[in-house]
Amino acid sequence: MSKIRFQALKEASNRKPIKVVEDTRRSELFGLNVFNENTMRQYLTKEAFKGVINAVKHGTKIDRKIADQVASSMKEWALSKGVTHYTHWFQPLTGATAEKHDAFFETIGDGMAIEKFGGSQLVQQEPDASSFPNGGIRNTFEARGYTAWDPTSPAYIYGTTLCIPTVFVSYTGEALDYKTPLLRALHAVDDAATAVCKYFDKNVKKVTSSLGWEQEYFLIDKALANSRPDITLTGRTLLGHSPAKGQQLDDHYFGSIPSRALNYMRDLETECMLLGIPVKTRHNEVAPNQFELAPIYEESNLAVDHNSLLMDVMGKVASRHNLKVLLHEKPFAGVNGSGKHNNWSLSTNTGINLLAPGKTPMSNLQFLTFFINTIKAVYDNEELLRAAIASSSNDHRLGANEAPPAIISVFIGEQLTKVLAELEGVTNGKLSPKEKTDLKLNVVGKIPDVLLDNTDRNRTSPFAFTGNKFEFRAVGSTANCANPMTVLNTIVAKQLKEFKGEVDVLIETKDLKKDEAIFNVLREYIKASRNVLFEGNGYGEAWEKEAKKRGLSNNKTTPEALKARISKKTIALFDEMNVMSPVEVEARYEIEIEEYTKRIQIESRVLGDIAGNHVIPTAVRYQNMLIENVVGLKDIFGKDFEKQAGEQIKLIKKISEHIEVIHAKVDAMIDARKKANNIEDAVKKADAYCFKVKPFFEEIRYHCDKLELMIDDELWPLTKYRELLFTR
Ligand code: ADP
Ligand code: MG
Repeated sequence: MSKIRFQALKEASNRKPIKVVEDTRRSELFGLNVFNENTMRQYLTKEAFKGVINAVKHGTKIDRKIADQVASSMKEWALSKGVTHYTHWFQPLTGATAEKHDAFFETIGDGMAIEKFGGSQLVQQEPDASSFPNGGIRNTFEARGYTAWDPTSPAYIYGTTLCIPTVFVSYTGEALDYKTPLLRALHAVDDAATAVCKYFDKNVKKVTSSLGWEQEYFLIDKALANSRPDITLTGRTLLGHSPAKGQQLDDHYFGSIPSRALNYMRDLETECMLLGIPVKTRHNEVAPNQFELAPIYEESNLAVDHNSLLMDVMGKVASRHNLKVLLHEKPFAGVNGSGKHNNWSLSTNTGINLLAPGKTPMSNLQFLTFFINTIKAVYDNEELLRAAIASSSNDHRLGANEAPPAIISVFIGEQLTKVLAELEGVTNGKLSPKEKTDLKLNVVGKIPDVLLDNTDRNRTSPFAFTGNKFEFRAVGSTANCANPMTVLNTIVAKQLKEFKGEVDVLIETKDLKKDEAIFNVLREYIKASRNVLFEGNGYGEAWEKEAKKRGLSNNKTTPEALKARISKKTIALFDEMNVMSPVEVEARYEIEIEEYTKRIQIESRVLGDIAGNHVIPTAVRYQNMLIENVVGLKDIFGKDFEKQAGEQIKLIKKISEHIEVIHAKVDAMIDARKKANNIEDAVKKADAYCFKVKPFFEEIRYHCDKLELMIDDELWPLTKYRELLFTR
């Protein structure tokens, strides 16, 4: 009997929900462990407070004197809450978050010690960062990297550590993290969007990008998850036969939340409240043991930090509840995978959501301007947007008939489709007074208030307009949102900049009025980007054919998709918008392509190990039992035994057949891996892993899963799907 599996099952079945105390209102807990505006007002001098607020709101620099004051107040606040250490918290390109704790404690001689934290420690640190991915940047330039305080994301306390959100850059200034390019992209979109807003309202001084992510995840009993080497090492099951019942009854989605999961969520949400992460929604997702958590949207940089922090905290809280969180996009075959919808919008300092229709024709024209420019940006950069969500794990969703396809298209709903069709008919050049009035009253003026409720929710679209925001649905559940948000904000910034240029030219050279010029440019954009609009079923084969005709890309694998990361167009785009230098772009590409290779390599090794060391020996053991049985029957029945032992003999043969194929395929896979490992060129190596190594996974799995069905359940060493998915 397989000990680990059955021990784990016993442990899991004896679990009780862990008690959670919720005796304080959430509104009172919210932000208690955050050095936010409210806390700063209490702890900082007026001068320091103003310095930080100006830095947050207007991007001004914080001088050394102010930094010292802030550090000293932060320390005082943190010590009052029992904190002993501080850390610069950053998001290196590993995808995980990084922290290195230092104690406030310092010795001052004569056997005495104090708690110390000064401006220099707040502002800059030099972690020994040589083991973070850098894509060759630090080899070519300067060996060291440093972290620098990002005052736009407030410091917080987790456990007994003060965490200071920082950027991570090389000494020559190249970004080595996710945050730095995101901050630059947010700056770019602010500049470009503010300039366009001034057509409509001269008072607009700043445009902020907002993000509301929706995090999907699986919750599996800790003992059961730990009993599977594939889950432990790769975050997903590499084999396992589908259970008799999966999600076909649709009985999990929005169903009543199982008690253990609910207590986990309550505990997690309390932590979130303390950390200032405004979580609001929780529910069961489609697959068994799959759930979702969503916050109220926030400014994009903060929202990204909060999502990264959340992913970390989720794991820690789960451990207290004897659960394991699986953030992988496809932990289980045959049931839904997990995504992370990125709801995105832009809003002004005057409080206007630029992607929400307004009350007047003029505000609706502003809405249409941002709406159409976004569509155009997505169309012109669809391949780059696809690349921004590429990963070995997300490859299991995109294009796999359950998640948005690998083809990027935009869904806008019936009403807005009609509005765009009307705008396409706008006269070229000057408009007659009648046409203008007509447009304003009957087209732009009639964009209904009820749009929000009416936007059809086409769940198969990777990029959908949902009434007052766009929802980028193809983002993977493990992703750091900074990556897609950097791309989205950059392409929209670039598009708005172009738009402004074109409108200004028409006003100056063609003597058009502002609104006429805007209508003229928008008309051309609608015509130009019509191909990216798609309202139908994104999962269907028909769409793949249609999309191909329309010239949209359909890159199904990460190595193919990532090529758009280093195209001439991409390099020029990031350079022009001051988001990433060509060196930074190339370094990131290198890191991503290598990460892909490594992940497939690990999966391949784990699969080879499980097939060879768990599945085959078990199959042989069971086969031996059958052989013993057949021999016994022969002893008893003599030449008649074949009738009695017929089924067993068939099974013995079948097991041998499967064992043979598994052996052969594992050997062939190892061979393919060896060949791939000998390839120097990183891109060709990733291709080899994708097209020569990975295809073995399905074949090996198929035969292992067949054996799982044949072999005595008592012997089977790997915790089964039904146990992983239905233990609550
Ligand atoms: P669903 O898409 O699941 O039906 P909702 O439409 O209510 O749910 O919202 C989903 C997410 O969109 C929430 O996290 C919410 O905070 C976010 N959201 C709402 N408005 C905006 C906005 N203007 N900008 C960014 N995100 C937003
Ligand atoms: Mg949604």
